[in-house]
Amino acid sequence: MKLLLRGHHLLCLKGFQGYGYSDDFVENMTEVNHARKRENTRITLTNTPDDICRCCPNLKDDICENCKQNERIVHMDNEVLKRLDASKDYDAIELFEKIDGIFNSKESVREICFNCSWHEKCLFYQKL
Ligand code: SF4
Ligand code: SF4
Repeated sequence: MKLLLRGHHLLCLKGFQGYGYSDDFVENMTEVNHARKRENTRITLTNTPDDICRCCPNLKDDICENCKQNERIVHMDNEVLKRLDASKDYDAIELFEKIDGIFNSKESVREICFNCSWHEKCLFYQKL
């Protein structure tokens, strides 16, 4: 299986515990979260709408909410992508192990998570 994922969504998936923007969003994110834990899943990285955004009510005309918010989101993606190689596909399990080693302190996610409104519900952020 192949997944297309935005950079910052790698971290959000690690923190996901069933909350989201709508029932469809939660159902889809739950499926993606299962898929990324399976053997033989490959991940392509992006800073554009991905397999999580496609079921999100905030996605409008292929951007997240509005131009200003979309810029913030792309910045969050790029902060993750600059630590990886977005030109290649990754094995999902290996990629998430790599992520664990890179984003392992609150300081390491300063530009990604500090302005996120899901802080209190995000297991990944809470555990840092
Ligand atoms: S705090 Fe927000 S941006 Fe950071 S991983 Fe959690 S949900 Fe994603
Ligand atoms: S459209 Fe925006 S809020 Fe929705 S999943 Fe994508 S980045 Fe997150």
